[in-house]
Amino acid sequence: MTHNSLHWYSKLLHPSSEAPAGFKSLVPPVHRASTVLFERQSDVADDWNTERKYTYGLYGTPTVLNLGARIAELEDARFSFVVPGGQSALALVYLAYCCAGSHVLLPWNAYGPHKDLARDMMSRFDVEVEEYDPLIGSGISALIRENSSLVWCESPGSVTMEVQDVPAIVKAARERGVPVALDNTYSAGVLFNAFGAGVDISIQALTKYVGGHSDLLLGTVSVRDEEGYNRVGPIHRQLGLGVSPDACSLALRGLETLGIRLRYMSASALEIAQRLAERPEIDTVLHPALPSCLGHEFWKRDFTGAASVFSILFSENYSPTQVESFVDGLKLLGIGTSWGGTASLALVYPDLQRPNIDYGGRLVRLSIGLEETTDLMRDIESAMSNMSEASPQRESR
Ligand SMILES: *Cc1c(COP(=O)(O)O)cnc(C)c1O
Repeated sequence: MTHNSLHWYSKLLHPSSEAPAGFKSLVPPVHRASTVLFERQSDVADDWNTERKYTYGLYGTPTVLNLGARIAELEDARFSFVVPGGQSALALVYLAYCCAGSHVLLPWNAYGPHKDLARDMMSRFDVEVEEYDPLIGSGISALIRENSSLVWCESPGSVTMEVQDVPAIVKAARERGVPVALDNTYSAGVLFNAFGAGVDISIQALTKYVGGHSDLLLGTVSVRDEEGYNRVGPIHRQLGLGVSPDACSLALRGLETLGIRLRYMSASALEIAQRLAERPEIDTVLHPALPSCLGHEFWKRDFTGAASVFSILFSENYSPTQVESFVDGLKLLGIGTSWGGTASLALVYPDLQRPNIDYGGRLVRLSIGLEETTDLMRDIESAMSNMSEASPQRESR
């Protein structure tokens, strides 16, 4: 059968011409594929281990594996599995390391949907997730049981930003042979050396700083060693956690500017945090680089920098309604979840669950982006003074 003899229908799928070879650019190519072609029938396989060979798009095309390799390099991991988001990264770790009857330890300031996963799905699978004080340090020892399968850390914790003594927790867990998993999203995998601190698994929502432009959802599960690789790989396949090479290509682009974005946003956020700490409206600024943040000493010891997300707690003179009016009054800062993007965001957390502490709807999380710092500060100050006008003292006059 000669090519010329083919009907044009067939030529659409089996062309005789191709673009010239030898093209080189700065941009990693986007490889989209479900099917992977084999030379012969005897080569056909279905193997999650992409280091042995490519067998199916689900386990990653070169674009996906390129992103994973770049994250693994930054984190100094054995391997990074790319997954659809931070949340699926958390789920993958549970399903790879736990079984019915397992006990898991989770700090009480963990990411909200992580706690939902623990309380709902994991409890239905008979995995008991016990919450602990994030500042427990080596005291975690007393909570570890015979059936403990995993100790989670998240440092700084979501919204209330407590920094954990991860090395102390790792030491205690190691002595009892329990693997430690860290949600390392805050540090973008670069401001805190998870594997240097001894953790076994580090997850990240690339959705935040790596993606960096609020336009993609991706995550990674990075493993320290061969054991982790062989434990997570098959479950990644069984759950079918494939990702889009197009999203990975955006994350690869995000990596190029991660350093410079973090540097600018971190400096801007710290300046704003310091200015806010002086405002009479604010009771506490929860920013890891400020001594007012619980665990600040561990941040100082273990981190190479601070990210650009932090929280402010309004003084008790302000009602939840006033705090809401502060957020509504912001012009440059948008109202929305997530963080780490180029545009600044603010959000009130009306019903944060923390043992023994009631933030009473007065806690606002800020994510500082790439706007000029003084513009953001003017916006925040103006929203604050408008809010103050509605304060109960003035109204009662
Ligand atoms: C956002 C976030 C996640 C979830 O990431 P998605 O990509 O949105 O699923 C997990 N952990 C932390 C700490 C986060 O901030």
